[in-house]
Amino acid sequence: MQFPIKKFLSYYKPYLRLFLLVLGCAFTVSAVSLIFPLLVRYITKDVLEGDLSIALNEVFWIGGLMLVLVVIQNAGNFFVDYKGHEIGARMESDLRAELFEHIQKMPFRFFDQEKTGQLMTRITNDLLLLSELYHHGPEDYIKYLVRFIGAFVILFFINAPLTMAVFAFLPFLGAFALVFNKKLNSALGNNKQRIADINAQVEDSLSGIRVVKSFANERIETEKFSKANQRFLESRKNTYKAEAYFFNGMETFIQLITITVIVLGSASIVKDSLDLADLITFLLYITYMIEPIQKLTHMSMQFQEGITGFQRFMEMMNIEPSIKNRPNSIKLANLEGEIEFKEVSFCYGDHDHNVFVHLSFTIQKGEYIALVGPSGAGKTTLCSLIPRFYDVSGGAVLIDGINVRDIDIQSLRSNIGIVQQDVYLFSGTILENIRYGNVHASDEEVVMAAKRANAHDFIMSLPKGYHSEIGQRGVKLSGGQKQRLSIARVFLKDAPILIFDEATSALDNESESIVKESLEAFAKNRTTIVIAHRLSTIRYAKRIIVLTEEGIAEQGTHDELLEKNGVYSHLYSKQFN
Ligand code: ADP
Ligand code: MG
Repeated sequence: MQFPIKKFLSYYKPYLRLFLLVLGCAFTVSAVSLIFPLLVRYITKDVLEGDLSIALNEVFWIGGLMLVLVVIQNAGNFFVDYKGHEIGARMESDLRAELFEHIQKMPFRFFDQEKTGQLMTRITNDLLLLSELYHHGPEDYIKYLVRFIGAFVILFFINAPLTMAVFAFLPFLGAFALVFNKKLNSALGNNKQRIADINAQVEDSLSGIRVVKSFANERIETEKFSKANQRFLESRKNTYKAEAYFFNGMETFIQLITITVIVLGSASIVKDSLDLADLITFLLYITYMIEPIQKLTHMSMQFQEGITGFQRFMEMMNIEPSIKNRPNSIKLANLEGEIEFKEVSFCYGDHDHNVFVHLSFTIQKGEYIALVGPSGAGKTTLCSLIPRFYDVSGGAVLIDGINVRDIDIQSLRSNIGIVQQDVYLFSGTILENIRYGNVHASDEEVVMAAKRANAHDFIMSLPKGYHSEIGQRGVKLSGGQKQRLSIARVFLKDAPILIFDEATSALDNESESIVKESLEAFAKNRTTIVIAHRLSTIRYAKRIIVLTEEGIAEQGTHDELLEKNGVYSHLYSKQFN
């Protein structure tokens, strides 16, 4: 991928003024630093070799001047260090916020493929060195460019042949730096990938720690981890090797140059074409000339991490969410709630089998239907097509006659209350979790929803009631309790279309029948789809749709279906006999 320089630079925009000030300071500091060796030269050459009685006075004056310069230099550096870093950190935080927001917009399909741990790395680690790059990058280039050019010009005036001798080394130095820099970069990129792998592995193992322990498979997990860890170690080893080559190679060049200057310089002194003060000045300035080359390449290496971070950032940012609003998408108002599947075909991926082929049916507004069928038939999938968690591969899903693809996604989803098969609760209190269904709901409304979901009693029996912390993913609650909270959450959302996907599967018979009653009361005048295994749960439904892998096998009321003696009656008799 070519480096997206324009995009990279665009992040400076909000801080441009302050940043230019920082650059101005960096420039001044470097320019001032060029003066010191000149003062040393002046002392060693003109003052000490002249009249010593005048010299003492002058040395003090020069000392005073040096003090002033030091103050300017350090005050400037202070500003550059402090504000420069701050700007970098702010920019990094801007990018991180943007990335998080972008990832939130991604559709289900994206999260089916990406590992959470990998995504975490992208949001946290990958961006860490960007702040360094953002402020040190331009600042250091200015600093070292000023020093390099300044030193070169000054040295050239002092002694042109010796300067050219030093200069002759530079192309080799540059070439060496380029080659090894490249190796280093690829090693660093590799590091990033490996650490992301480790994070993904840790995330997976720790999320499933209860499964790991129940199978006593800690050893297997540890082995998986140590493989990832080992690969990271290998990658680190390669990086250090490349680094060692790079730094020591550079060091060798610097020593070669220094030796050359000492030898040639001393020879010149012997030949009387150079004096000692000039040689000292030369040795002082030589670092000014070499340092930039050393630093610029070293910097580019340091910054390479920032650069690869930015590239990985852009990789993510360039993924367009495949499910998004069309231009002029329709905002739903006064929804009736009729749902129509029209010749819908769907498969999860190019290599997956079709879950549906030309599936058609309609659910009238306000209708309460049940969806039953063997597991894997596609019940959950069918429901996830309505809020556009996935887009159909063929045909269309229509709500009130409007293709869901033409509806504003926010508006579509705010009209659908869905209790998903896998309940997910956030870490936080019970109150917060229920209120997630409607952040504007009052405490009373939350309690009301909890009562309807038959959750109030168990919540009140907890020491802190609604303010009880439920732990990460709700680990401190039973499966049935979690389900009731997620039902309360959807009750609170108060949407005209309701989907309950095995929402009461973990409840005992008694509490299920309570929830069922309030659910049926709540469902009045709302279009409702209930998926349930326990067929007793769905008897109330005006219509039962029986879904099998071949599509809709039959539909009708409970009694009609029993009479038909088909799939449904078969399922039913298995459950009750
Ligand atoms: P049900 O809810 O009726 O048990 P699902 O809708 O969950 O069935 O699954 C229908 C089919 O789609 C199954 O074959 C399942 O393996 C497949 N499937 C479900 N979710 C995904 C997914 N995220 N990616 C790929 N295939 C999936
Ligand atoms: Mg399911």
